[in-house]
Amino acid sequence: MALIRTKGLVIREVNVSDADKIITLITEDIGKVSVSARGARKNSRYSYGTQVLTYGQFILFKGRSNYILNGCDILASFYDLANDLERFTYAAHMIEIASDASSDDQTTARVLNLLLHGLNALNKGREPLLVSSAFTMKLMQICGYPPHVTSCVSCHEKDLESIYFCFSRCGFVCENCARANKDAVPVTIGTAKAILHVLCSDNPGVFSFNLSPGNLESFSNIANRYIAERFDKKYGKLDYLKEISQVSYYLGGNDS
Ligand SMILES: [Zn+2]
Repeated sequence: MALIRTKGLVIREVNVSDADKIITLITEDIGKVSVSARGARKNSRYSYGTQVLTYGQFILFKGRSNYILNGCDILASFYDLANDLERFTYAAHMIEIASDASSDDQTTARVLNLLLHGLNALNKGREPLLVSSAFTMKLMQICGYPPHVTSCVSCHEKDLESIYFCFSRCGFVCENCARANKDAVPVTIGTAKAILHVLCSDNPGVFSFNLSPGNLESFSNIANRYIAERFDKKYGKLDYLKEISQVSYYLGGNDS
């Protein structure tokens, strides 16, 4: 039986017995796949190699219903993110989006590359809201939904004095056209530049910019609403962090 070698990231692990696991990989070559890892819980090398947030070289062969793990070498592990609840929640959010976006093999390879750079940015201590929002916006471009940002998407005016983001028209609109589109929200120059930066950059530059807190909140709201409407799905993992910060605030644990 032919062996398949591919690099991939473990995005899910499920224990199926005292010894076995089933893992989900997003890979460079064969898209998103489910892999049966027999004995992975008993063998320490396989146990680490099949841990969620591990990036490795995997050797697989194709079984009747899924792939079967034949070997793995760890290339990088982002599992340390699990020591920080906030960063780990952002990583889980990005993985959920990446999993949903992993359609054909070619798109999945690009999603994997973006996700690895995003996880690396999280690991290096970059602002997690900025990393996840930039990741989301770039992912929409990879998936074929790049917002139109070079002119007003409705009237094609290039010289925009005030910029709005229209979710139903998928891009920037001018003030006049914003009046006709109830879902258009105002965008500051700083936020508009951040969106342009992300769309025009390649990895790892996608994550190399800074934003004021106000612009970051606006950039994040646009990215999150844009993906929720295009994918027709509510992503709720980050809501958990908001709930925790509110509880912490009411308990007097928030100094800010
Ligand atoms: Zn217009």
